[in-house]
Amino acid sequence: MNKIQKCVQDLVIEHGSADTKTICENMGIIILSLELPERVNGFTMKSHGRWFIVLNDTLDDDRKRFTTAHELGHIVVHGCTNSISLSCSTYFCTSKYEREADMFAAYLLMTAEYDRCIECDTLTIQQASQIAHIPEEKADELFF
Ligand SMILES: [Zn+2]
Repeated sequence: MNKIQKCVQDLVIEHGSADTKTICENMGIIILSLELPERVNGFTMKSHGRWFIVLNDTLDDDRKRFTTAHELGHIVVHGCTNSISLSCSTYFCTSKYEREADMFAAYLLMTAEYDRCIECDTLTIQQASQIAHIPEEKADELFF
């Protein structure tokens, strides 16, 4: 298990849920949906001691879910790495932090999916890539 997987596992155990909205609520993180420049999916900021995740309101629900999980990754994994971190519009950016946040989001959404359907103990690469919004070869590398 790598560092990111461990972070996700600890978080899910701590909050008793893998649902991004529930976890954010528990942590007192405010999620906002606002008009943002097209290339920005979302970003995280801290103001008056409170974390905010700001999402581009043009994103569809799936993309918002992934971006929320990605931003949550920045907060949980990277802690208070200062001011504002912008999400890239590409799935996998070269920056280590962006890659880690993407991995965090992928693991968290996968965990949520397992929670939702207790019956299905196996997922295909295709399903994993759809859920986590990552290319199939990445899903293969991360989960299989
Ligand atoms: Zn990011």
